[in-house]
Amino acid sequence: MSIQVENYKRIQLFCQQHQATLVAVSKTKPVEDILELYKLGHRDFGENYVQELLEKQAQLPSDIRWHFIGHLQSNKVKYLAPFISLIHGVDSFKLLKEINKQALKTNRIIPCLLQMYIAKEETKFGMDKLELAELLSSEEFSLLSNICVEGLMGMASFSNDKNLVESEFKGLYEIYRTFKSLQTPNCKLSLLSMGMSGDYELAISAGSNMVRIGSLLFGAR
Ligand SMILES: *Cc1c(COP(=O)(O)O)cnc(C)c1O
Repeated sequence: MSIQVENYKRIQLFCQQHQATLVAVSKTKPVEDILELYKLGHRDFGENYVQELLEKQAQLPSDIRWHFIGHLQSNKVKYLAPFISLIHGVDSFKLLKEINKQALKTNRIIPCLLQMYIAKEETKFGMDKLELAELLSSEEFSLLSNICVEGLMGMASFSNDKNLVESEFKGLYEIYRTFKSLQTPNCKLSLLSMGMSGDYELAISAGSNMVRIGSLLFGAR
């Protein structure tokens, strides 16, 4: 039993005060830990490996809202489609098309966040503002009736430089604000998923309304 109850209560309160949703990132942690947080009333959990998510989902209460926060491969979408609450890291039109196809099969509309590239690091995935604009205005996109783009997601540089991280978050918030007014049947931006254990306060002050926190809640991985 290693969940950090005091941290949880403090962060949950902070998020409530700022109208942000706390996604508890339980990757690599056992179902017992998830259940502990569940018993405190928590329902939003995030995982970043499909296989691990499927194993946990099968063992845990069905009212958990599962968030997929990792890099999703097209061939794995079909496993998540029946139950996933929100897919955070959609970074290509191809993936969006596959999610739409699998959502249609299970007769669902799957909420998605598009992942934006904001960090000065080569390893992070995502699209830039121009690619986002092109995607959202394309006819092909408008035909995807079984997905709904509900927001954007981004990861700042892994850095101690607060100014850098803050400017990356602010940059993403600006993009979010720009596209928020674009309301179409399958695109209604209301979620901005940014902020992790090390930078969630900075992210929320820059405009985030959804944070993904792992190690502060479950201990180091
Ligand atoms: C692991 C992970 C997190 C949580 O990271 P912590 O630093 O443990 O809070 C958040 N977002 C993504 C995409 C992750 O992979």
